[in-house]
Amino acid sequence: METGFIEEENRKNNFIKNIIAEDLEKGKNNGNMITRFPPEPNGFLHIGHAKSICLNFGVAQEFKGKCNLRFDDTNPAKEDQKYIDSIISDVKWLGFNWGEKIYYASDYFNRLYDFAVELIKKGKAYVCGLTAEEMRDYRGTLTQPGKESPDRDRPVAENLDLFGRMKNGEFEDGTYVLRAKIDMASPNINMRDPVIYRIKKMSHPRTKDAWCIYPMYDFTHGISDALEGVTHSLCTLEFQDHRPLYDWLLDEVSAPCHPQQIEFARMNLNYTVMSKRKLQKLVENGHVDGWDDPRLPTIAGIRRRGYTPAAIRNFCNIIGVSKKESRIDVGLLENCLREDLNEVAPRVMAVLNPLKVTIENWSEAGITEELDALNHPQKPEMGKRKIVFSKTIYIEHDDFMENAPKKFFRLAPGREVRLRYAYFITCKDVIKDKEGNVVELICTYDPATRGGDSPDGRKVKGTLHWVSQEGSVPAFVNLYDRLFLAEDPEAENDDFTKNINPESLVRLEGCLVENYLVDAEPEKAYQFERLGYFCADSKESSKEHLIFNRTVTLRDTWAKVSQK
Ligand code: ATP
Ligand code: MG
Repeated sequence: METGFIEEENRKNNFIKNIIAEDLEKGKNNGNMITRFPPEPNGFLHIGHAKSICLNFGVAQEFKGKCNLRFDDTNPAKEDQKYIDSIISDVKWLGFNWGEKIYYASDYFNRLYDFAVELIKKGKAYVCGLTAEEMRDYRGTLTQPGKESPDRDRPVAENLDLFGRMKNGEFEDGTYVLRAKIDMASPNINMRDPVIYRIKKMSHPRTKDAWCIYPMYDFTHGISDALEGVTHSLCTLEFQDHRPLYDWLLDEVSAPCHPQQIEFARMNLNYTVMSKRKLQKLVENGHVDGWDDPRLPTIAGIRRRGYTPAAIRNFCNIIGVSKKESRIDVGLLENCLREDLNEVAPRVMAVLNPLKVTIENWSEAGITEELDALNHPQKPEMGKRKIVFSKTIYIEHDDFMENAPKKFFRLAPGREVRLRYAYFITCKDVIKDKEGNVVELICTYDPATRGGDSPDGRKVKGTLHWVSQEGSVPAFVNLYDRLFLAEDPEAENDDFTKNINPESLVRLEGCLVENYLVDAEPEKAYQFERLGYFCADSKESSKEHLIFNRTVTLRDTWAKVSQK
């Protein structure tokens, strides 16, 4: 993978890097630094996760430490192997490397159980038989302290016996839980004797039927961090109130070390929703076509849309890491993408709404000529390709106007334009159907302008993209746009799906693309000259049935609209 994309100067907008740099300077943790990215495999990753991935793997790379990929797979009810697979593929695609081993919290189930027993023996955990409803009542509120469970002072021996029997499957779901014995009067509700184990008679994707009790997230997370020697446990702000519990647990059990939890603000983007629960709703209710729908902010979706990993990494660097919640303009993400694609995307020609042009003075139909086209006008190292000119060519319907104003620099009766890399043509005649729609233009070409150069210094104002009949193949083009019309889709409506943009996908048929694109690599963006960036769809496009997805427009059209 590329190195150096995390630049020194980016430390300014990343307070966590400063903390780590200081710790290393002071020789804390024996000069080690280990982070982890801990997704729960209950959905696909989204661009918010990319921020966490870039942060955790990024600092490990920069400080020559290590970042573990660890699945937080403690809730078999919601987790699935297909999510594990997609997460692995997404992290890899983003360009990060987790070393030889993938970690799973479920690999620690035995050790976690032993730590729970240790807490019981110390009198710091007890088996509680309150029902879920009673437990809620006993918990108290933000303003009122909780009430102690009648089971709170159960003798150690009895707790050990009951916990062992929970593990052996003697009790049904919901009859008992194991709770940490902390403080029912704590102002922090997380500290009011939180549940650390529950009975769930359910098969687990990895441990199958070995367990019928599963540890809770808070118990699992800190101990897993410690078992892996994590030094800096970076998580989002909603875990700030869990930190006292994280620290309490690690102080009470004989964990090998005590990692430092540091919280940062989640990334939010406008014109989209981010949480897995909401994305799932869009997928399950058929608002989009699966988790990898190119309109979703999932990594799988934006990848299918033609985004590059470099653009996403650059975006994450620019937005930085802070403690302040904010909603980032998706326009910034799109600009990072444009910047990268402008450098790396090959240029090609395609006509989305073709208008037939017959070159009257071309020798005869069927005779073709090959011309050279640059794959990137500013980058000769990207090479050239052959394009085909002939008697029948197609231009964009919009590039012709019958009664054109003076400032219209494209084609109109009697006017001359340049066809990119080909010839100057002049419009001689306009053919219409019965309804008066323009269906064909009759033009002449000037053989002396081959390659698009003017021999006599004659100037034309417009240069049009085009394809020829012989040099092109038909294609479908998906014009994707923002999935939501509202900046904050959840703000004004209780049902965010009411804000879906009905034109978030417009499918065009009968487009024509250069022959060269028959072999377009799926998910690799090309610039269709003057139109935007497009890539072949990785799921549905084939040589016989080409389908291109619009990755992004050439300019930010939304910015213009909102300035009006
Ligand atoms: P969601 O709330 O979207 O369902 P999650 O937090 O439940 O996401 P996890 O699988 O638990 O998803 O997250 C893995 C890691 O990614 C966590 O450390 C979490 O803090 C981080 N993360 C999740 N969403 C964001 C976000 N929007 N911005 C930054 N980090 C995020
Ligand atoms: Mg979660």
